[in-house]
Amino acid sequence: MTVATKTVLLVEDNEDNRIIYATALRYAGYSVLEAITGTQGVQQARDGAPDLILMDISVPELDGWEATAILKADPLTRHIPIIAVTAHALPDDAERSRKAGCDGYLAKPISPAALLTEVDRRFGRPTPSYKPLRPSDPELSMGSGF
Ligand code: MN
Repeated sequence: MTVATKTVLLVEDNEDNRIIYATALRYAGYSVLEAITGTQGVQQARDGAPDLILMDISVPELDGWEATAILKADPLTRHIPIIAVTAHALPDDAERSRKAGCDGYLAKPISPAALLTEVDRRFGRPTPSYKPLRPSDPELSMGSGF
């Protein structure tokens, strides 16, 4: 099985972040499903059967914790690993993510390379040394919007 067969669902309401993360994941060979709201994320998880979910916590309708709790209560989706991605950086975020059923936790801002490294690690893929997508823009930073 190649990495190209792995599908990642990206739940992220910030368009800039969503484009950057999705582009990086596709660049690395993953198939990417995208959702903007927690409600869309739940639906995409049910319809698209992703292998991994990256769940922004601050999303409209259902927040990331609520969406995670729903997916982890559903026999159809509970096996899908969910990595919470939060901008809050509050001390209890990791604990709250765990209680919601998240399988991992990443704090924003996170570079596309660091995101890919975590996704690769989840799939047991050796960590390549990712090059910036555009060498003229080595940071590819996330900006401050969430
Ligand atoms: Mn957000």
